[in-house]
Amino acid sequence: MNKVSLEARGIGLSYGATRVLRDIHLRVEPGEFFALLGPSGSGKSTLLRLIAGFAQHQSGELLVDGQDITGVPPHARNVGMVFQSYALWPHLNVWDNVAFGLVERRESREQIRSKTAAALDLVGLGDYGQRRPSQLSGGQQQRVALARTIVIAPRLLLLDEPLSNLDKNLRVQMRDEIRHLQRKLGLTTIFVTHDQEEAMTTADRMAVLDQGVLQQVGTAAELFDFPVNRFVAGFVGTANLLDGRVLQAQGDTFGFDAQGVGVLGFPRSAQVLQPGPAVMAFRPHQVEVRPAGQARDASRLWLQGQVEGAEFMGERTRYRVRVGQALLVADQTHAAGMPLIGAGQEVQLGIDRAQVRFLDR
Ligand code: ADP
Repeated sequence: MNKVSLEARGIGLSYGATRVLRDIHLRVEPGEFFALLGPSGSGKSTLLRLIAGFAQHQSGELLVDGQDITGVPPHARNVGMVFQSYALWPHLNVWDNVAFGLVERRESREQIRSKTAAALDLVGLGDYGQRRPSQLSGGQQQRVALARTIVIAPRLLLLDEPLSNLDKNLRVQMRDEIRHLQRKLGLTTIFVTHDQEEAMTTADRMAVLDQGVLQQVGTAAELFDFPVNRFVAGFVGTANLLDGRVLQAQGDTFGFDAQGVGVLGFPRSAQVLQPGPAVMAFRPHQVEVRPAGQARDASRLWLQGQVEGAEFMGERTRYRVRVGQALLVADQTHAAGMPLIGAGQEVQLGIDRAQVRFLDR
């Protein structure tokens, strides 16, 4: 199959005075499974609809394999879209739902028969052709929606929150199935989700959107390890974020004056920092929790605090700890028999300095 690339160059879209997408630059590589991740209202669906041709941008270019498709109507784009609601025809059986697009394209009877059968087999519903959508589970309906979309051999597959109507276990299973199918077909796929775990576990790369502005593009690990700003740090995974000021470096060290906490010392590492306002970001699992007074190793940055609450999550316990005026989150890996540290107890938090990121906004 011919795998295509997709590129957005300076895409802008407004509804009246509302700017929904602002100067979006993005390139999705051929065969890639790409996620658009962001909170509700960030413009993800609009961007997807624009690729499908259901919305029009006012500025910029949209290219498939280098060719501008801006003026091409939806039916001529050869794009397949799967919706959250599945949008199956309730009065047609599964077979006719899947065959629909082929009939519309006036393909031969034989082609319709063999392609429909192949698509249903591909999603594991070969024996369900005669059923009505109402006689299927949510996961099965979603598979029909997928079969109906891939049967027309689209150049691009667009998925708009395809899993959000399914319960948790099924969601994980369907996410693996979709990923497997996508790999098998090698289809360039763009997947919209507000769920960071879903994006991180399925996508080759993802773009994070907030208020119509593209914040960062990268693999899950790149975004998690090196977020460019506080929004990405807080949206992809959980982050402790402390506002403050980077102070003038002295010798091999520099200070960070964290609001409500005080001046913290760091080695002058690979991160070249200008003195001035910054955000200190670090992950809860990079913080060690120790009872006050217990011996500690000097390689970490230690802060005194008081536990405000604990959530036992099985693999780990998540502590909320008041340090000065800041509330920090620290995850302790759990082992059988390990007692929980109760609210009100004094603790010390050991932060791995090498894992701290300083962000400029
Ligand atoms: P997301 O998919 O990230 O939840 P959407 O792309 O659906 O976000 O919407 C982004 C913003 O655009 C929202 O503020 C929404 O209200 C607005 N919007 C979307 N479609 C329309 C429309 N047809 N007319 C006016 N505003 C719209």
